[in-house]
Formats: sequence, C-alpha cells, structure tokens
Amino acid sequence: MQRNKSAQLYDEAQQHIVGGVNSPSRSFKAVGGGAPVFMKRGEGAYMWDVDGNRYIDYLAAFGPIITGHAHPHVTEAIIRAAKEGTLYGTATEHEIRLAEALKAAIPSMDKVRFTNSGTEAVMTTIRVARAYTGRDKIIKFAGCYHGHSDLVLVAAGSGPSTLGIPDSAGVPAGIASEVITVPFNELDGLKLALERWGDEVAAVMVEPIVGNFGMVMPKPGFLEGLCRMARDAGALVIYDEVISAFRFHYGSAQTFSAFPDQNAIRPDLTALGKIIGGGLPIGAYGGSAAVMSKVAPLGPAYQAGTMAGNPASMLAGLACLEVLRQPGTYERMDDMAAKLAAGLKASADGYGVPLTVNRIVGAFSTHFCDHPVTNYEEAQDTDGEQFAQFFRLMLERGIYLAPSKYEAWFLTTAHTDADIDATLMAAEESFREMARK
Ligand code: PMP
Repeated sequence: MQRNKSAQLYDEAQQHIVGGVNSPSRSFKAVGGGAPVFMKRGEGAYMWDVDGNRYIDYLAAFGPIITGHAHPHVTEAIIRAAKEGTLYGTATEHEIRLAEALKAAIPSMDKVRFTNSGTEAVMTTIRVARAYTGRDKIIKFAGCYHGHSDLVLVAAGSGPSTLGIPDSAGVPAGIASEVITVPFNELDGLKLALERWGDEVAAVMVEPIVGNFGMVMPKPGFLEGLCRMARDAGALVIYDEVISAFRFHYGSAQTFSAFPDQNAIRPDLTALGKIIGGGLPIGAYGGSAAVMSKVAPLGPAYQAGTMAGNPASMLAGLACLEVLRQPGTYERMDDMAAKLAAGLKASADGYGVPLTVNRIVGAFSTHFCDHPVTNYEEAQDTDGEQFAQFFRLMLERGIYLAPSKYEAWFLTTAHTDADIDATLMAAEESFREMARK
C-alpha cells in the first residue's frame, strides 16, 4: 500500500500546523512516528485516504461516528442546517429538542447546557461543582482523560499518557495542587484522599466506564462506593460520559443495565460530547436543577459560547440519536464486536501473542499482555511496541485502528459481517507476521 500523497501532505502540514496535526492523538508518535494518514472521504464503515487506499474504520473519529461516515439521515440534517443559516447567536427550538432527548435518556439531568467540546463541558462541571460547594479541590482517577483544561491534565491518560507527558507543561503548580489523583477501581485510595482533604473537595470526577486506558468496566460496587463516599464528604459526583453516553445502549453508563442499582450510582453532574453531536462539534453538561441553577444567567458560575448550541450540531445530534433509537441497533453492534473480539483473541492465542481484550457491547480494547486490565497501571504495563507493530500490519491491510495502545476499537451501525471477516483475516496475517519475528 503506497501513501506518497499522505507523506507529501505531512511534510507540507508540518510547515504550517504545529506537529502537522490539530490534535496530538492523530499523530503516529505513539506507534513509531512517521507520516499519519491523510483521509479524503468517509462513507459508512470505510475511509479513503488521499492516495486512494480504502480502510475499514474502527477509530470512528475517537468515538463520535457511531452511525458510520456520512450517514444519509445525519447528512440530511446537516444540509438542512446549512441551508437555514448555520448560526444566529440567538436561541433556537433545536436546542430544546436535543436537551429534551438527552434528559429523557439520562434522568439525572434536570437541566442541560450545550458547549462546543467535551473539554469545555468537563471544565464547566468542575466550575459549577466549586460554585455549588464553595470548595476548590477535585479528586480524579489515574488514567481517566477529561479533556485538555488545566485542572484535568494532571496525571491524565489518553493523549498525555501515550506521549509520556503525565503533567502538561504550562499547567501552574498551584492549579495542579488542587487536584488529587487516585487509582481507578479501588476505593482505598479514594478513602485516604477523602480522609485527608474531604472537607476541601468540591467533586469526585470519573469516567464511569473508562474509555481512555482501554475499555474498562468499574468493578461491582466501585461506583456505588465512590458515590457514597463522595456524598458523605459533602462533595459532588461528576461523571464524564463524553465517550460512554450512547456508546453501549440508548442512554449513558449511569443508566446501563450492567449496574443494577441506578439510584446508588446517580451523579450530580454529567459531562457529554462526541456521539451527541452526530459528528459535528459538541459538548454538553447537566445535572439537578439545584446544582445547575448556579450557572449564569441564573447563578454566579459563568460559562458561555458563541458557537454553543449551534443549529447544525443540534440537528446532527438529533438525527444521530434518531438512528440509534432504531430497534436492534446496539444488539447488532454487540454481536459484531463479540465476533470480532473473540476472533482476535483466538487468532492471537493461535500464534502465541499475549492479548487481553476488554469488550463492552460495541467497543473493545486490545492490550498486548497476559494479565487483566482493570486500572491504569495494568494498562501501562502492556507491550507498546507489539501494539505499534500490530497497528502498522493492520494499516497495511486496510484496517484503521486508533494509533495508541490506550484507545478503543469502535463498531458503528455501518459495519457488516463481511467487514468483521475481512478484519479477522487481516488480524490473522498480522499475528502470524508478529509471531515470526
Ligand atoms: N472526556 C473524555 C472521557 C474524553 O474521552 C474526551 C476526548 N477524548 C474528552 C473528555 C474531551 O473531549 P473533546 O475532545 O471533545 O474536548
């Protein structure tokens, strides 16, 4: 597979755009470097690069493209929005309709506010929690990624961990000292932190189902314990559901059937993004009316946005949710991901390549190791070089994976059984090649 045009464009991009990419996770730095692939077009489960190579896409743009590329229903909504004018700087009915749809699926949100990205949504939940409690400190969990605002780039995962920068330069020490990071999936660290700083903690923030050091389920009782301990300390619970909302079922992690007692895991604030915008820029946050009443113009916590709630993102999001509401949508993604994950594991086993696969419905992660992955430490303790080799071998066979050992594979409503079979064939060849070296 030749990618001369991608290489040329990368040379050019580096002259104008820092690092040649507009988000570090798009670079191939974590998989051995070199030119990333420049895409030209996407349709359904496929992307075509500028050299005309076709890829079966499991990146799904890091999550949002759950209905596949250029889904006709979503595309129609975007065209409608473009024709009606993309921005007025006024309120529109579309914002009400998307807020209603989100509230119906995520009952812990009485009130919603739209932003332009997950980063903004999370950043604002922290501000609101601080305004509500009158406290400053935040507890977060190692390896959870919450966007790139100052507070949450402290010992963060995803991009920063991939690039080996646990703390970003430019985050003031004073701000970092407001953040306490504890291990995911065990309550002892949280308990210690709350014993020491409990009366200063505004919120405990977590990805209730982790998507940023692979796909990791909370152990039974973890979220329940987290919520109980946070409340006992007078702190709020913030769920970052930027990845998890609408990924595993029509709803969010907090309403997922895997958690039997949903009252016991109900957060005070929820941050959303990705899927809810149908592939256009979006973020949202919401919570109880009492907490959300702290937000301007009702309350003293300020948050705003020229583009926030723009008609195109609202209509694309509504259209995407309509597609996801179709009966059988998640069952199909579950079936295909089950077949793919099992096939990958069997194939790796066959060639003696150690592989742990963590699957939750239509999303899974592949960890090159022979132990379970339930927290960040275990996710770090996996073979990055083997992952990089696998990534390259798959890429050469037209399978596009996220270029990082920490990111998930995402199924879409557009993938077919034939795509899964083709992917498994490519994986078989790739593992065979890896075993030879
Ligand atoms: N929270 C989580 C859980 C995420 O995975 C991400 C992005 N990967 C963000 C927040 C930040 O969202 P955005 O990139 O839209 O700013």
